[in-house]
Amino acid sequence: MSARRKRIVLLGATGSIGESTRRVIAAHRDRLELVAVAGRGRWEQLAAIAREHGVREVGIFDDAALAAARAAPAAFPPGTRLHGGLEGLRELAGLPEADLVLVAVVGTLGLEPALAAIAAGKDLALASKEILVLAGPFVMAAARRHGVRILPVDSEHNAVFQCLEGHPSAAVRRIVLTASGGAFRDWPVEQLARATPADALRHPNWSMGPKITVDSATLANKGLELIEAQHLFGLRPEQCGAVLHPQSIVHCLVEFTDGAMLAQLCPPSMTFPIQHALLHPERAPGTEPALALERAFGLEFRPVDEARFPMLRLAREVMAAGGAAPAVYNAANEVAVAAFLAGRLPFLAIPRVVETVLAEMPALPSPDLPAVLAADVEARRRAAAHLPAANP
Ligand code: NAD
Ligand code: MG
Repeated sequence: MSARRKRIVLLGATGSIGESTRRVIAAHRDRLELVAVAGRGRWEQLAAIAREHGVREVGIFDDAALAAARAAPAAFPPGTRLHGGLEGLRELAGLPEADLVLVAVVGTLGLEPALAAIAAGKDLALASKEILVLAGPFVMAAARRHGVRILPVDSEHNAVFQCLEGHPSAAVRRIVLTASGGAFRDWPVEQLARATPADALRHPNWSMGPKITVDSATLANKGLELIEAQHLFGLRPEQCGAVLHPQSIVHCLVEFTDGAMLAQLCPPSMTFPIQHALLHPERAPGTEPALALERAFGLEFRPVDEARFPMLRLAREVMAAGGAAPAVYNAANEVAVAAFLAGRLPFLAIPRVVETVLAEMPALPSPDLPAVLAADVEARRRAAAHLPAANP
């Protein structure tokens, strides 16, 4: 057992990943300690989390929620410091007493806090896949420069990380991420045209936040994950593939040059990869039962139908194009998904918006970080311009 507990900063504490992370930390109080939490609004829930875990550093992004929290100091543990806005997230990411920062805020907002954590020499546990899609080469280079580890939390990447340990990269032929297929795995295209947000949010295997659940239904989630994997593991685009696996029990396959494959299996719950990332390189009893082999179950694999799921084809194209294309793909997708969730855009229009914006934007072969960030902003503007007018 480690002599000192690992001190964790959790950005996105009130979300789905945040909740699973808190369960893992609560089950391993002898090894893990939560020292800071942050969320967008929901300050009362953040206060409850702070009381439960004895946390005295709390980030609240929203101004109004921050003001409400400041007016109710008794809700927080004595001596609590409140941090506001993006600056607050950056402060928490660089907290002197922290060992590891887990970034689990939705979208690309976590990029600056992630870079702040790296610059402060903290290990980074990364759930927010959009960060590496936007700025993978810059984040990975910063991590190398500062000698910090990036521990993948996304289940497929955590699985690859586990399978790769101890193997030289030259021995790896390719990695294959599994995709559940999301809510519309078996829907014909005609029916997809009428899919509602409520339909898309009914994920068969995983319980997650709304944005990623819609991404699972379009398979943009797998597309984002392929791009994420490319950066995390230093692979070429053609070394990263996906296969449909409806049971979500096998999370990845790693194929080596000799044709042998390693797979990682566990039940479809994020507590498994989160615990692995937080405790790494140690292991400890899990918070949930492992797979039960006493009862028969099957594992099925089939190729992904890219014609029905164009977001996967587009992901492959942006990986091949490189430069700012993955950032454009991600930004346009975020805007389109938000519009779909708001009832403003039909399901099948999500890939159409993304493809249109990709076609409109110039290819930037080797952009610097400011150029990528500018492409992200421009892609959002263009995607918004392609949405149907809001209902009066
Ligand atoms: P969620 O919607 O359930 O929670 C998002 C969290 O981010 C909340 O705590 C929210 O308060 C916080 N947040 C949002 N905007 C913020 C802001 N401006 N400032 C501070 N905090 C902010 O989402 P989730 O499902 O937990 O996903 C979080 C991230 O993890 C996403 O990037 C997602 O792709 C990734 N991820 C999630 C899962 C999963 O199983 N849920 C699996 C793999 C990867
Ligand atoms: Mg995943």
